[in-house]
Amino acid sequence: MDKSMDEDCISPEAAAPADNGVPRLSVVATPIGNLSDLSPRARATLEAADCIACEDTRTTGNLLRKFGIERPLIAYHEHNEQASAAGIAAKIESGARVALVCDAGTPTLSDPGFRVVRECRRRGLPVEPIPGPCALITALSASGLPTNAFAYHGFLPPKTAARRRFLDENRASKITLAVYESCHRIRAFAEEIAEVLGNERVVCFARELTKLHETVLTGTIADVLPKLVGRNLKGEFVVLIAPADFEL
Ligand code: SAM
Repeated sequence: MDKSMDEDCISPEAAAPADNGVPRLSVVATPIGNLSDLSPRARATLEAADCIACEDTRTTGNLLRKFGIERPLIAYHEHNEQASAAGIAAKIESGARVALVCDAGTPTLSDPGFRVVRECRRRGLPVEPIPGPCALITALSASGLPTNAFAYHGFLPPKTAARRRFLDENRASKITLAVYESCHRIRAFAEEIAEVLGNERVVCFARELTKLHETVLTGTIADVLPKLVGRNLKGEFVVLIAPADFEL
């Protein structure tokens, strides 16, 4: 690594300023299971915020209690996000530091928050990322599948025909495909992958990441499919599909 780059990375002067009271929106990643993954910077940002905008006040309230943080909460979610985005931006304009969180992981990634960030950007308000857990990146990092290029598709449509069409359209993909999938459809989706893409397609089923029953199954779909039984069908999943020509 280039020495100056190395110094940039570790020198305190190179770090984004700590909370200096400037009104802003802080986009804060929270744990996806393991509470130890809340970074010290995320914690400090939540403690310093004038209010915390969250998807669900109960879920975020529980998290904050575990860290002894007491800040006013305001709820936003997909149904009122446009209206609450204007309200949150107005708070920042009048001098507030607002932290934006979702129920788990990084806001805006298959979670609400995008409209709040866009509204702040439109008004020229400062937006700072406080990075941390994200199921997508966590799964990719431990999968053994190529990460140099990947396409994230969020949640696929629930209908079988639409999911099969997605697989068919991406049959020859040269990059890794990533989706979030409900545990209720995980076995059916695995069978669809085998049927549409063939038994030799390399996949990764990453389940309950950072939690007690964390399981990362990487192999051909023919290897992985029989392991998706019983307890291995429960919990939260990220599914990765390797490029068509990839071999382990
Ligand atoms: N914003 C979150 C993030 O940064 O990853 C994602 C929220 S999305 C509503 C929830 C989905 O993410 C779950 O249905 C599952 O597909 C995936 N997910 C979240 N936590 C996970 C975990 N611990 N292990 C595996 N997948 C997880």
